[in-house]
Formats: sequence, C-alpha cells, structure tokens
Amino acid sequence: MGMMIGLSCGCGYHKEFSIGVGMMWGDLFELPLKAGGFVSLRKLLSDRAEYDLVKILLEEKRGKCADYGQALFRCPKCRTFTERFHYLIEYPGGRYSRPCDCGKCGAALEMIPCGDEDDDGPDFSAYPCPRCGKPLSGGIVGMWD
Ligand SMILES: [Zn+2]
Ligand SMILES: [Zn+2]
Repeated sequence: MGMMIGLSCGCGYHKEFSIGVGMMWGDLFELPLKAGGFVSLRKLLSDRAEYDLVKILLEEKRGKCADYGQALFRCPKCRTFTERFHYLIEYPGGRYSRPCDCGKCGAALEMIPCGDEDDDGPDFSAYPCPRCGKPLSGGIVGMWD
C-alpha cells in the first residue's frame, strides 16, 4: 500500500504525490532473488550501469534492500517537491542509494521521511511553499496500491 500526500498553500499551490510501495513492485529486491527478480529490476532500472551495480551489490556483496518505493523529495535550493523511485541497499561495509538531482536546478534532492499509513505524516509546516515561501500545510490524503 502506498500513500497519497497532499501539499497545499494559501497562495494556490497544490500538489499530490504518491509515496510508498505499491503492488506493482512486489518483492522486487528480495533475496534470494527468484528467476524473475532481476527481470523486473531491469525494467525498473533503465540505466544499464545502475542495474549492473545493483546486481553486484545484491549478489556478490551480499547486500540487502533495506528500503524501496516511491519517496517524496525536496530541493533545498529551489524548494521544488518531487516524487522519485528510491531504494537503499545495505551491504557489509557500506550502503548505496540512488542519487537524485532536482529536475529544475540540478541540486541534490533531500528525501522527506513520510512514515507509514498509521502515522499522520510529516509536519509540512516546517517546509516553505515552493511558490510563495510561506509554511505549507499537508498530510496524507489517501491510499493507493
Ligand atoms: Zn531545485
Ligand atoms: Zn504558497
């Protein structure tokens, strides 16, 4: 199950984001990987080099996928919010997550932890509106699968 997060501001800014893990990803990263595991991973990771790296981390480095799914990101520079597919692989000696850059200004995005559906979600008033800079209001507005 994934969550819908809605952000809004008195200036008219309103945007919804789909966060979490839906049915479509299933047990994508789970080990031991089934025959089809890497096939779906291959579809998801369109970048061949990234796919190869993930495969090495999971197979040869005995890594485990600690977290994956759609996540909410924010650009610290231009304040844009965006949703991206995110994953975190932990392996003996390190961890790897996909680097994410802002589509507008190119700065490194920061992930906003959104908890799960039992929580109220993060306190979005801590973040300025991308449009006018005033504190945002927001929270969980629905579920998806
Ligand atoms: Zn930006
Ligand atoms: Zn605003």
